[in-house]
Order: sequence, then C-alpha cells, then structure tokens
Amino acid sequence: MISQDIQKVLIEETQINERCKELAAQIEADYQKRGQVPVIVGLLKGSVPFMAELIKRFTFPCEIDFMSVSSYDGTESIGDVRIDKDMDLSCKGREVLIVEDIVDTGRTLREVKKLLKRKGAADVKVVSLLDKPERRVVEIEADYIGFRVPDEFVVGYGLDYNQKYRNLPYIGVLKPEVYR
Ligand code: 5GP
Ligand code: MG
Ligand code: MG
Repeated sequence: MISQDIQKVLIEETQINERCKELAAQIEADYQKRGQVPVIVGLLKGSVPFMAELIKRFTFPCEIDFMSVSSYDGTESIGDVRIDKDMDLSCKGREVLIVEDIVDTGRTLREVKKLLKRKGAADVKVVSLLDKPERRVVEIEADYIGFRVPDEFVVGYGLDYNQKYRNLPYIGVLKPEVYR
C-alpha cells in the first residue's frame, strides 16, 4: 500500500475537486470574454489528473495538447529545462493555457512560456494546481493557482517521487525514511 509511505495529507481529494470547480468557472469566464478557441497544454506527466478534473468542467470550445519537459531529478531541481516531447498542434496565433502541477523555482514555466511565445503564441497563460512561492528563483507567477503549499516536497494527484505516487488521489508529504 503506497499510502503507508505518506506522513501527512496536505490537501484532500474533495478539496481539490471543489477548487477545480472554482478554477474552471474562473477560466471559463475569462476565455469566453476573449471569444477565441484556446489550446490547453498539459505538461506531462504531473498535470494529467489535474487537467482531467479541470477540462471536463469547461463548456467552451477548446483543444487539448501535451508537452513533456524535464527539469527535475529526484527531489532536487536542476537549472536547465529540456523539451522531451513538443506540442502536436501549432500554437501560432493561438491563445495557450499551460496546465502545470506545481510552480517551484519557476524555471520550467519561464522556459516553456518563452518557447511558446517564440513559436508565435498570441497569449500564454498558466494554471497550476500548486504553488510553492518560497522556493521561487525566477520572477514568474501562474495566472490561476489551486493551492499554495509550504516548502515541503509533496506527492500525489500527479506529482511523483521517482515516478511513483502520481496515482494518489490527494496531495501529501512522504515519510522521511522513504527517501533513504
Ligand atoms: P520548477 O521549474 O518550477 O522548479 O519545477 C517545476 C517542476 O518540478 C514541477 O512541474 C514538478 O514536476 C517538480 N516539482 C517541484 N516541486 C515539487 C514537489 O514538491 N513535489 C514533486 N513531486 N515535484 C515537484
Ligand atoms: Mg510539472
Ligand atoms: Mg517529477
């Protein structure tokens, strides 16, 4: 049972679902005003459960796509961001909404936003399930944030430790002995 590795639950599944409802309504209102068909781009793999929960509540026309970038190994962030899988759709002239699991140092978002702008995106916004502002080294903020979390390494609801725990339906903190 992987839940035995969890020291504490920070955000329950019901809280996440409630928050997704609110975020979806807010995003929907903003994009309806703009009258465009945005491309919703999930950053693999951490954003998958959050993206699924969010987009099923959208009633406006949108297209979805995915990108995979890597900047993280274990629990320590490294500076460079590598594009492992690019978008399939063109973002030229499009409004893009990036879906991210967590904004930590902010490096990933800065690089992905830069890349999409360079490719001609008309507008790039970001929705992130979690935000860890204490760890920021790059001045960047998501446009929509689910929850602020303290400076602790969290797992679950898409977020992994060495590829595990993504399937947990809540956000939690691992027991220290799991890292050893
Ligand atoms: P950043 O570029 O903002 O430093 O890092 C972004 C990526 O690092 C996130 O998309 C996520 O994959 C990973 N990351 C940052 N903080 C955490 C954390 O507390 N837990 C997990 N599982 N991943 C994290
Ligand atoms: Mg991520
Ligand atoms: Mg990871």
